[in-house]
Amino acid sequence: AQQYPDWIWQNGTIKPWAEATTHVMSHALHYGSSVFEGIRSYATPDGAAIFRLTDHLTRLFHSAKIYDMVLPYTRDQIAAACRDVVKKNGLSAAYLRPVAWRGLGGFGLSAETPIDVAVAAWPMGPYLGPEALEQGITACVSSWQRFAPNTIPAGAKAGGNYLSGQLIAREARRMGFGEGIALASTGLLSEGAGENIFLVFDGALHTTPASASILTGITRHSLITLAREEGIEVIERDLPREYLYLADEVFMCGTAAEVTPIRAVDGKQVGAGHAGPVTRRIQELFFGLFNGKTHDKWGWLEPV
Ligand code: PMP
Repeated sequence: AQQYPDWIWQNGTIKPWAEATTHVMSHALHYGSSVFEGIRSYATPDGAAIFRLTDHLTRLFHSAKIYDMVLPYTRDQIAAACRDVVKKNGLSAAYLRPVAWRGLGGFGLSAETPIDVAVAAWPMGPYLGPEALEQGITACVSSWQRFAPNTIPAGAKAGGNYLSGQLIAREARRMGFGEGIALASTGLLSEGAGENIFLVFDGALHTTPASASILTGITRHSLITLAREEGIEVIERDLPREYLYLADEVFMCGTAAEVTPIRAVDGKQVGAGHAGPVTRRIQELFFGLFNGKTHDKWGWLEPV
């Protein structure tokens, strides 16, 4: 059975995990009207630190704005809640989940319900399995497309978006793949079920743009920044499906997935069939932020 940490922050107070509940008639449960973040804290040589906490919470407020949700707490208050939850549960390497949702207060689609807010956190290692970071995973192109830009905004991290992610991830796993990759409504590459995607050609990184119905990930932005700093060229561009088969290397990234190599797509081997040199270098730079080998000149590590 799953072991849950003891404490959750909900609507201004820290309470026991079992008491952090909501009503069955909450708007969000029926209509997907929630916005959330996934954030990691790491055990660094200078103590536990939350990676890009401020940037994640800025995105939370952007997601809320898109859905006219006025959060009853400031960004600083939610940041303090994140720190408190990590501290109170005695966590260091963990996953943090701030979530805001339309609560009990009306059943119409445009109901102005109260907005509930919670922050949970639990210990977390590599998301796609411990070997995934080393050996890479297999992936398939999903039979499910990402939602088109004029249907549901991919730039908001909203609960309802993850119905699409569930279809993509569940189909992939049912068919024996580690993860699913979706095409956009244009037919061009979009992203993984819960990860952004990078292809390597001739030592340069190619990644899909915001116009490909992606969530513009904070890990994606971090890797682009680290790569450019290192003199590795990064190109945001449209990418056709077959480039997945032709790339020298492919990897996925996200808060949970971190930097995960893709060793095969649709049963076709990618490059040498294991993490290539550019992927390894990007992994080193990224994980270096947390073991002190990469200098954090951007202030991304926010102490707990
Ligand atoms: N795309 C989707 C659909 C996601 O759910 C995530 C995970 N939040 C990402 C990309 C990666 O974003 P980030 O690096 O900010 O975690």
